[in-house]
Amino acid sequence: MKDDVFCTNAIYDGVYFESNYFIVAYDISPVVEGHSLLIPKRHVVSFIDLTKDEIQDMLYILKIVIPKLISIYGDESISYNLITQVGPFSGMSIPHLHTHILPRNKKESEDVNNVYKNIEKVTRLSPEKYKEEVERLRKVFKYKSQDKLPKKQKM
Ligand SMILES: [Zn+2]
Repeated sequence: MKDDVFCTNAIYDGVYFESNYFIVAYDISPVVEGHSLLIPKRHVVSFIDLTKDEIQDMLYILKIVIPKLISIYGDESISYNLITQVGPFSGMSIPHLHTHILPRNKKESEDVNNVYKNIEKVTRLSPEKYKEEVERLRKVFKYKSQDKLPKKQKM
């Protein structure tokens, strides 16, 4: 455990999907609608620190989560970005591995590359709007936070 926000229980306010090794949370400063974060429960900085089981779990979660996000926020184009920044020269803001999942659609396609510039910008949603969006996603993903124990201690 470290003291970054992804190692605290606070992140669970935004979680709408969870597996043995990963959580998926709504981004508090979404650059597009549906902007989510795939985060390992264990504190690691880089993909190469993940175990084989964690990597398999991660890819499987993407396979489940991406189509659902597209069904809510995307369109028939099936467009999305996955963005991960690792290390001090990458623009990584929180030194705990996280992959941004961005469902994309035609509506914002004129601005197609702008997400890369804006990915770490801090324009926070209001707490009310954030809660509303997380609740919406929890319904779609049938996630009941009250059923979940507090974040487990990971080595
Ligand atoms: Zn961490």
